[in-house]
Amino acid sequence: MQYICHQCGRVYPLTTAKYKCACGGLFDLQGVPLNADWASPSRLGINSLWRYQPVLPFADAPELAAGLSLGEGMTPLFPYKAGLPQVAAKADYYMPTLSFKDRGAVVLTALAKKLGVTAMVADSSGNAGTAIAAYAARASITCHVFAPASTSEKKLRQIQAYGAILHTVEGSREDTAQAAIRMVEAERLFYASHIYNPFFYEGTKTYVYEIYQQLGGRLPDDLIIPTGNGTLLLGAYKALLELKQQGAVSSWPRLLAVQAANCAPVYQAFAAEKAEVAAALNLGTSAEGIAIAAPSRGEQILEAIRSTGGRVLAVSEEEILAAQKELLANGISVEITSAANFAAFRQLEREEVGFGCRSVVFPLCGAGLKSL
Ligand SMILES: *Cc1c(COP(=O)(O)O)cnc(C)c1O
Ligand SMILES: [Zn+2]
Repeated sequence: MQYICHQCGRVYPLTTAKYKCACGGLFDLQGVPLNADWASPSRLGINSLWRYQPVLPFADAPELAAGLSLGEGMTPLFPYKAGLPQVAAKADYYMPTLSFKDRGAVVLTALAKKLGVTAMVADSSGNAGTAIAAYAARASITCHVFAPASTSEKKLRQIQAYGAILHTVEGSREDTAQAAIRMVEAERLFYASHIYNPFFYEGTKTYVYEIYQQLGGRLPDDLIIPTGNGTLLLGAYKALLELKQQGAVSSWPRLLAVQAANCAPVYQAFAAEKAEVAAALNLGTSAEGIAIAAPSRGEQILEAIRSTGGRVLAVSEEEILAAQKELLANGISVEITSAANFAAFRQLEREEVGFGCRSVVFPLCGAGLKSL
């Protein structure tokens, strides 16, 4: 396995101290073994995302995973409500740190452990930092987490509770990333970035492998995916590529990316048929987890959405709040960011003729307690 620049194709070893290519391009991961074993009946008893170890990095080092796993993955998929059997919710709020970020964090931390890292740095709007902090604790790695000072109090406390060293940054999400990178470079620390390091996407791709098996060896017509930096979306797309390559599926679901209308750079770029995502204004949104004004992998996000025939939805603050209310009225408590996914579902129902006949999966990917 090695890193390969998405832009110019230059390769770097996994031991590189660089987090992106000299040309400015971001890394993809090349050479992850795709062993068909993942679908064998003998693996069905493994009730975590490590069921998919044959298609993950470290397929040959099960002990790495065994020492790190907190039982993350294999989250329930259940029908949203009676009368809508084709609409299912994937409950990633069952994760150890209560968001889907555990999928990526466990794989990225396994890499750090394998490299012998003793201290690492992450930056996050909240949930990624929490997930990395938890796995760093488990791996006995010192962890610095940078987060915007405006991050909700509960998420900041959750990060600290795992023993991570929290650095709050006044300013934007982008200022926070810059502060983290300064520390990485000044102290030559491992950059446990869920955005830059492609090992994170190896973890998030299991979201789609799980859905495939939970639906009995098929995928739905549509996957609704929240999109800030695109870590779930790009992981999902990688899984689609792999499942096709392995002959498990012949067609793909549409990737339907969800943004908050008040911070919608991907929506704007998609609507204007651009190949790249320009920074947008963040006008303020309750969906803090997807409020990313300048996503670093914007070009890849657009490629993924377009190649599945998907589209981008922008949901208003009113729609997000109404969605949260409706979910709660149905016994489902998600953090406010995650209500945006359901708001997009309702918007699609209103806007697209025939949408009601399609099978859809939307994620409940952050627990309600995070924003209650
Ligand atoms: C991180 C997160 C998102 C957005 O994920 P990106 O990787 O930024 O696209 C959405 N919902 C929740 C609950 C999150 O934690
Ligand atoms: Zn390059």
